[in-house]
Amino acid sequence: MKYVSKSDFKAARECPAKLFYRKNKYPNLKEDDEFLGLLAEGGFMVGKMAQLLFPNGIEVPGGRDQEAAIAKTQEYLVQENVTLFEPAIFVDGMLIRADILIKRGKSFKLIEVKAKSIDGSALEERGTGGTACFWKKRYPGLDSKWQPYLEDIAYQTHVLRRAFPGADIQPFLMLCDKSKQTGIDNLLQQFLLHERRNEKGDEFFEVEFTGDVEALRRDNLLIKINVLPEVEYLLPEIKGAAAEFAASVMEGRKIQGPLSTECKKCEYRLPLDQEEKNGFLECWGKLATVSPHLLELRNLGHVKAKGEKLADSLFAKGKASLYDIPVEWLSSPAQGVWQKRQIEYTKKGKEWISPHLKDLLKAHKYPLHFIDFEGSRMALPYHAGLRPYGQVAFQWSCHTIRKLGDPPEHHDWINTKKTFPNIEFARTLKDRLGREGTVFMWWPYEKIVLSDIAKTLRQSERPDPELLDWLERMDGALVDQYKIAADNYYHPDMKGSVSIKFVLPAVWNNNPYLHKINPFQTYYKEREGKVLSPYETLETIKIAEEAEVIKEGTGAMRAYQEMMYGLHRNDSETHAKWTTLLRQYCALDTMAMVIIYKHWCSKVGIYF
Ligand code: SF4
Repeated sequence: MKYVSKSDFKAARECPAKLFYRKNKYPNLKEDDEFLGLLAEGGFMVGKMAQLLFPNGIEVPGGRDQEAAIAKTQEYLVQENVTLFEPAIFVDGMLIRADILIKRGKSFKLIEVKAKSIDGSALEERGTGGTACFWKKRYPGLDSKWQPYLEDIAYQTHVLRRAFPGADIQPFLMLCDKSKQTGIDNLLQQFLLHERRNEKGDEFFEVEFTGDVEALRRDNLLIKINVLPEVEYLLPEIKGAAAEFAASVMEGRKIQGPLSTECKKCEYRLPLDQEEKNGFLECWGKLATVSPHLLELRNLGHVKAKGEKLADSLFAKGKASLYDIPVEWLSSPAQGVWQKRQIEYTKKGKEWISPHLKDLLKAHKYPLHFIDFEGSRMALPYHAGLRPYGQVAFQWSCHTIRKLGDPPEHHDWINTKKTFPNIEFARTLKDRLGREGTVFMWWPYEKIVLSDIAKTLRQSERPDPELLDWLERMDGALVDQYKIAADNYYHPDMKGSVSIKFVLPAVWNNNPYLHKINPFQTYYKEREGKVLSPYETLETIKIAEEAEVIKEGTGAMRAYQEMMYGLHRNDSETHAKWTTLLRQYCALDTMAMVIIYKHWCSKVGIYF
């Protein structure tokens, strides 16, 4: 069956070529475990919570069997009054599975549930109709943050109007209201996810709520907002786009999107050696293999004139080299110096070290602590008194160098109990770091987490003045190693990025001295004559028949959710395996900081 679903439509709005790649099952970098994605976003819990607010709602059966779901929906919609969850409506090549559809005679309420937060206490009506926060402040048009969600519900409204001409259709967004606090303890743990199969053997997930439904309804953390003015504003464009996308899918035709700076983060930008079904290669043709590529220029999207991204005009002329960009375009005070340095040192093929780096490193007081946190913002709060999307800090790692020349010591902590971890997290970290020396983070995430915990502690009925005092001291004491790197270091292998995932391989691959140092040598491996990035040497572990490894922060967040709330949450062996993976990943993040620090020291002549 050929159709454009809600997700297809969203992808096509980003770039129409993505629709063709989706429909033809091209591999992509977002292609992750759908189940882990659901867990991480908390979408399944919020979706279930929304359904429970409608006691007479009927779940349309069929799972992913769209034809069965369409037939069943038609049967239900013969009734005068009915509330459906996940009904399937198909018309003119367009298919929607609405989250909640309420039919009352010829009137419909169409509700799209999103695990996104909004401050319900600060909603204002816009003078010309609609909700102010969904619109741009100074220009006509919608706020870009909300536009994809509003386009999603606009597409559904369009399909429903085509299916029921003349009906009154009111579209709503249902969101998490962060101005509300839950009155329910352990709310998160009362939602369970189960893996099921439909009659055709297709796998799908079912959510069970094990708590008190009446209490959940009274507690209601969601807010429903009528978005008809926003939808009416979008509809003329949405209707045209929907018809064009549906026609292309029916004909099996690709609509090529423009080559642009947006291609940099396209999910179909696979490694170039993967030649089969490589969307990026197909879009860019010969320009894909240009090296060094202009898409590697740091903050390329900020190179603008009159709101236009200038690089796009070069791509249109068939120019894609890093050296094709005119230097006079790189005049932004914030980015220009960096961008020019990237081009200069890429041409020279050597690293750049600022003349200030040595003095900067010499000023750091011992012990040196290198810390990294893993955490997530959960859609639903753990405890009574907390709000949606609160910070959950579940793991820290720390490498400490006591004095000049000492090897790094490693310590870590990870929450494995089904309790709110933040205070224990902070206490254990305080005991490890104390108040002496220099504490490094990479990017200010650690600072944000500690400041959030301090805020919780100030509002707590059980204050801990000593911990609070330490947290407040840390707020001003953390040193951002990312900023040191951005201001004082560049290597062409970083390809315009200051992410630790790029800086580490750049220093590691180009400084063989590091490979022999204990304990860095654990991470030294070669494949086909090439030195691997230490992140490529992490051990994989088989969990539920899949070889799992964690190599980045989102993966860590998903692994933690899987360990705590996943299908195998009660299996101690699985629990232990996820713990091992999380610990080895976080330990490498802080070891990476030490390796980079050591590299800098070796380059500026500091014995470390
Ligand atoms: S590479 Fe660019 S043109 Fe091709 S699908 Fe991705 S965003 Fe669209």
